[in-house]
Amino acid sequence: MSVADNLTAVRSRIDEACRACHRDPSDVSLLPVSKTKPPSMVEEAYQAGYRLFGENIVQDALAKSELMDADHPGLQWAIIGGLQTNKAKYVARFATEFQALDSLKVAHELDKRLQIEGRQLRVLVQVNSSGEPQKSGIAPEQAVDFAKKLAVSDSLDVRGLMTVALNSPDPKAVADCFDVVVGVQDKLRQEVNEVSDWAQLSMGMSSDLEIAVAHGSTQVRIGTDIFGARTDPAKIWHR
Ligand SMILES: *Cc1c(COP(=O)(O)O)cnc(C)c1O
Repeated sequence: MSVADNLTAVRSRIDEACRACHRDPSDVSLLPVSKTKPPSMVEEAYQAGYRLFGENIVQDALAKSELMDADHPGLQWAIIGGLQTNKAKYVARFATEFQALDSLKVAHELDKRLQIEGRQLRVLVQVNSSGEPQKSGIAPEQAVDFAKKLAVSDSLDVRGLMTVALNSPDPKAVADCFDVVVGVQDKLRQEVNEVSDWAQLSMGMSSDLEIAVAHGSTQVRIGTDIFGARTDPAKIWHR
């Protein structure tokens, strides 16, 4: 199957999942995650009509951006992995979206750099919904406090929340993670609505997109089921 065929198949899964829970399919977007994959595969997805691509490592995203942006009108990059403060300046230069905000220090550095660049960045706050210590994201019970301290300029356009659910064969355990995020969203809407309407929920990956859609996702992030298994880090195209 080609990248275009895979995109069609994944989009059908999303649409079907929406119909199953009486949601409008246009309320759930598909973010293709091109991490570790070569520009030629991004090109295929671009030709199929996709414009925004998820990448988890800043240097990899930057390498593709530098190679592709000039002759691909509208091509945009979403950083979906954690960011060290010293990489914020790069993100401020080329990314459209950052989905893994869980540090005030990074927020303020991004804000400062964006103001210098005269750019805006859409931002999602990452929530650690599974409680696994190795996972990024703020703890659900810290969300209100974190959001209140997010005193940044309009350079950071805070849109909502992102999570990576438990990787488990038990659909109930996965669904619980998504419900935690919806609970956080409710609280933020009541208590910190001056920062954002918190409308965007980036939830769901190749293995759990149907559960995520049933539990309120507005965007699924799909790598494997579009581009195939992750490339061995030693064999990534530009390294
Ligand atoms: C890699 C990645 C994805 C895509 O995962 P697949 O299981 O390959 O679909 C989604 N979200 C984040 C944060 C990722 O790092």
